[in-house]
Amino acid sequence: MIDPYGRHISYLRVSVTDRCDFRCLYCMAEDMTFLPKSEVLTLEELDRLCSAFVRLGVRKLRLTGGEPLVRRNILSLVRALGRHLESGALDELTLTTNGSQLARYAAELKDAGVRRINVSLDTLDPAKFTAITRWGKLDKVLEGLDAAKRAGLQVKINAVALRGVNDDEFDGLVRWCGEQGFDLVFIEVMPLGEIGADARLDQYLPLSMVRASLQRRWTLDETDYRTGGPARYYVVRETGRRLGMITPLTHNFCESCNRVRLTCTGTLFMCLGQEDAADLRAPLRLSESDDLLEPAIRAAIARKPKGHDFVIDRRHNRPAVSRHMSVTGG
Ligand code: SAM
Ligand code: SF4
Repeated sequence: MIDPYGRHISYLRVSVTDRCDFRCLYCMAEDMTFLPKSEVLTLEELDRLCSAFVRLGVRKLRLTGGEPLVRRNILSLVRALGRHLESGALDELTLTTNGSQLARYAAELKDAGVRRINVSLDTLDPAKFTAITRWGKLDKVLEGLDAAKRAGLQVKINAVALRGVNDDEFDGLVRWCGEQGFDLVFIEVMPLGEIGADARLDQYLPLSMVRASLQRRWTLDETDYRTGGPARYYVVRETGRRLGMITPLTHNFCESCNRVRLTCTGTLFMCLGQEDAADLRAPLRLSESDDLLEPAIRAAIARKPKGHDFVIDRRHNRPAVSRHMSVTGG
């Protein structure tokens, strides 16, 4: 699949549920209304959709959410999608998780063909962890990370850089990830969804400042490692681990974008930062074969926009798009 700007679309992110067992401050309001179950695709339908994308050339699938591991029976979808790894049609099947259920699922994920996972963790301080996630417990996530290591899964930690919240912990996170053998990625807060007046402006911390402060203590060697997304990677010479910076607001990465995002209702977003979307649930449900689905996917890819319009400043402190990150998936 090639879009109108010549970009090869080879990466699909799938939000398998909008629900979550955490309520992270930057992601959700405390009183979220979730979709009624009837609107959400079944696991079989998600499998059909993902498999259609794989047939059309997607080589990498990432399951996300919401929290993917709170969806009932999610491992049956992971195992089903694992068949595309075995056939060679898919290079990678992975997921992004908050880690709360990993202790239970790490070994099964590895069995199903998952090799690497991203785990979101913004702080190593238990009280701060609960303050940020509202409902989360740090020790559960650390247990999950241990289980992931034991199962032989490679782990990348995602940490959102939050002004006045975890900005005293960046050195500690780099050191800890070095000790644990994890890669680390810092993410800037993105303006997605209404979370409370001015909250985003207070949280926003440009990663150029994070990098400058880290460079006082660590040697960051530039690399040309890319994943086709917004992350720029360094190697921390002292630990040998990769350090990524996702800077959607300060660095434009759209020219090399290789991905599209599917929600759990079958809506395809061609860009994380734009409202335009294509409904794939109707063509999926109208026919048992994929005769309607494949042309609908191709037509959507043909509408992929050139780039996003994120801005956070005093004049633009409204969300750029109204949906929360948990709808489109991170
Ligand atoms: N629940 C899973 C988790 O937390 O990893 C997967 C979904 S979560 C929406 C995916 C990623 O998006 C997480 O790393 C989270 O920190 C990040 N995220 C959520 N809201 C964000 C925002 N407004 N700006 C930047 N990153 C955000
Ligand atoms: Fe849940 Fe992930 Fe959003 Fe936190 S960032 S509320 S864990 S979906």
